[in-house]
Amino acid sequence: MTSAETEILSNARSFVQRVVAPGAATADEREEFPIDVFRAVGRFGVFGAGFPSDYNGLALGFAVYAGLIREIAQACASTAMSAVAHATLAALPIFLGGSERLKRRLLPALIGGDAIGAFAMTEAGSGSDIAATATTATEAGDHYLLNGAKVFITNANVADVAVVVAKTSPAAGILGLSLFAVEKGMPGFQATGRRERKLGMRASDTGELTFTDVRVPKDNLIGRRNGGFAILQQTLPAARLDMAAIAIGISERARDLCVDHAVGRRQFGKPIGRFQLVQRMLADMETSIDAATLLLAHGLELRDRGLPLAKVASEAKLFASEMAVEITRNAIQIHGAAGYSRDLPLERLYRDAKLTEIGDGTSEIQRLIIADEMIKARSPRIPGR
Ligand SMILES: Cc1cc2nc3c(=O)[nH]c(=O)nc-3n(C[C@H](O)[C@H](O)[C@H](O)COP(=O)(O)OP(=O)(O)OC[C@H]3O[C@@H](n4cnc5c(N)ncnc54)[C@H](O)[C@@H]3O)c2cc1C
Repeated sequence: MTSAETEILSNARSFVQRVVAPGAATADEREEFPIDVFRAVGRFGVFGAGFPSDYNGLALGFAVYAGLIREIAQACASTAMSAVAHATLAALPIFLGGSERLKRRLLPALIGGDAIGAFAMTEAGSGSDIAATATTATEAGDHYLLNGAKVFITNANVADVAVVVAKTSPAAGILGLSLFAVEKGMPGFQATGRRERKLGMRASDTGELTFTDVRVPKDNLIGRRNGGFAILQQTLPAARLDMAAIAIGISERARDLCVDHAVGRRQFGKPIGRFQLVQRMLADMETSIDAATLLLAHGLELRDRGLPLAKVASEAKLFASEMAVEITRNAIQIHGAAGYSRDLPLERLYRDAKLTEIGDGTSEIQRLIIADEMIKARSPRIPGR
């Protein structure tokens, strides 16, 4: 790592403890998106870590970005999730496929945290199956007319820019998808105001967006017309690595609380950490966190080198998210009644962990991707799913 990379990571812990951690439990309790914290995260440099300086980024390695997300997730997984939706799912496709003019206009504010981004793919009838996208974009002179509705969108109610997945060739399945940067204030574009009431990630805003004859200038097309899937194939694996980082951060926090409790809590005349059944849970936590960290590091290295990472990103996301659910469940077990109480953050970690098995593609979809990649590597001619 360079000295700039080491420096930002070593300052991150005190920044998170000072700025992100103090309000995390209250924001969860009140189901409020902590917008000031979010903007401070941007000013610290989190959103810009992986972007070049031309667009207000810090041009650091992706291991630094993931390290920052992991650190934030230890304190507030909701903030980490909103950050990933903003920086990876919204800003990254603009960077990858936007015209130079669009990038110069939108990216500096997004990367600095002055504007907030959302990524709008999911619809009522299209979740895992993105070929079923019903939102359409029809070419009309110098613009596209966008019509449709998106659900379960992170940052929906606070977004200044939404990267929207729409069909430009409705009969062409995934090869008929295009991405558009839709900006707040464009007539016909609005958040419905609905805020999902969720099991976890309650301090992350989740809402709905609607598009009624929105005139989107052609310059706001991201990538080629019908080229949306190619950009998604770069963006979604990157977001899966981020989700793995969030799952690892959640797990590390739960593990640390467990070690403290195993040392401090005495039953039957000794610390509960002396009981081998408790030790087994601690040992499994540590081993899986180390394994998930290595998988993530492998994926981040491929990303830094610009190599294909679909399979390892799905592996890291699958492994880390299932691990996070198990570790937080066992962490409550190790704490007994105290773990079940809302006085400790464990129940929040448990609720937050569950999202990591669903967002950015469910565990089932990750398994399908991994198996498809395995089969493709052996028999490239066998058609995919
Ligand atoms: C808090 C939160 C935030 C979110 N943020 C965003 C966001 O910012 N932007 C966005 O676009 N979306 C977002 N989503 C949506 C998320 O990406 C989807 O929920 C996810 O992709 C799954 O889609 P679905 O919920 O429609 O489930 P479905 O696709 O309906 O799946 C239901 C079940 O069927 C299984 N299944 C589906 N297809 C298959 C198959 N082929 N083989 C085996 N099993 C299958 C799934 O694994 C799952 O268990 C968010 C969701 C949540 C909960």
